[in-house]
Amino acid sequence: MAEQAQRVAIVTGGARGIGAAIARRLAADGMAVGVIDLKEGDCGATVEAITRAGGRAFAAGADVSDSAQVAAAVEAIAAELGPPVVLVNNAGVLRDNLIFKMSDDDWDTVMNVHLKGAFLMSRACQKYMVEAKYGRVICLSSSSALGNRGQANYSTAKAGLQGFVKTLAKELGQFGVTANAIAPGFIVTDMTAATAARVGVEFEAFQQAAASQIPVRRVGQPEDVAHVASFFASEGAGFVSGQVVYVAGGPLN
Ligand code: NAP
Repeated sequence: MAEQAQRVAIVTGGARGIGAAIARRLAADGMAVGVIDLKEGDCGATVEAITRAGGRAFAAGADVSDSAQVAAAVEAIAAELGPPVVLVNNAGVLRDNLIFKMSDDDWDTVMNVHLKGAFLMSRACQKYMVEAKYGRVICLSSSSALGNRGQANYSTAKAGLQGFVKTLAKELGQFGVTANAIAPGFIVTDMTAATAARVGVEFEAFQQAAASQIPVRRVGQPEDVAHVASFFASEGAGFVSGQVVYVAGGPLN
C-alpha cells in the first residue's frame, strides 16, 4: 500500500503561547507545520523546536488581518511543505476596556485579528482542503465568549468564532472538512501575564486566585489546549464537526 503523504498544518500566532504548543504538538503527531506570526523571525523558536525533534516546519510572517499577506504566507507554506489541510486559527490580541472607555481602534483591532483573520486564513486554506477532500479547521474561541467584563470586543469576537466554525462545518462537511472551536479558560501565557500586569497583580498571585475558582484547582497550560487541538486535527475526529469544547478545568455557567 502506498504510504500517505505527510499532512500539512498551519498554526497562526505560532511564535509563542498556545499557538507554539499546538504547532509542536501537531508536529509530534506527524504533521509538517507552517508557523505564521506577525514577524517571521519570531517563529524561530517554534520552528527550531520542531526540527530539533525530527519534524518539518516552516515560518512565514503575516498579519492575519491582511488579505494579501495571508494569501502570500499560505502560498509560501504550500510551496515549501505541501497543501495545508489542517488550519488552526489561533492568532489573537487583547484590547480590554470597559465599554465607555473602549476606542474605535480597540474594537476594530480585536475584530480584525480574531474574526477577519480567521475568515481570511480559512478562505485561503479551504481550497487545498476541498481539493484534498480532507480538512480540519480549528478556531481558538474563549470562555470569554460567554461574556466577560471589560471585554466587549474580545467576547464578541470569540462568540463570533463559534458561529463561524458551525457555518464552515455546514458548508465544507461535504468535502471531508470539519470545523471546530476550542474555548480555553485561564491558560498561562504572555496574554494572561499581560492581563495580570494591567490590573496590577503579580502573575503568580493572579494564577493562584484564578486556580482557586477552577474546579480542578489549577490554571491551564498551553499543552492542555494543544491536546484538544490534536484530537480535532486527527483523522479519527472526522465525525465531530461544528462543536465547541471548553478547556477550562470545569464547566462554565
Ligand atoms: P499570546 O501569548 O499573546 O500569543 C498570541 C500570538 O498571536 C503572538 O505570537 C502574537 O504575535 C500573534 N499575533 C497577534 N496578532 C497577530 C496578527 N495580526 N497576525 C499574526 N499573528 C498575530 O496569546 P495566547 O495566550 O497564546 O492565546 C492564543 C489564542 O488563544 C488567542 O486567540 C487567544 O485569544 C486565545 N485564548 C487564550 C487564553 C489564555 O488564557 N491565554 C484563553 C482563551 C483564549 P506578537 O507576539 O507579535 O504580538
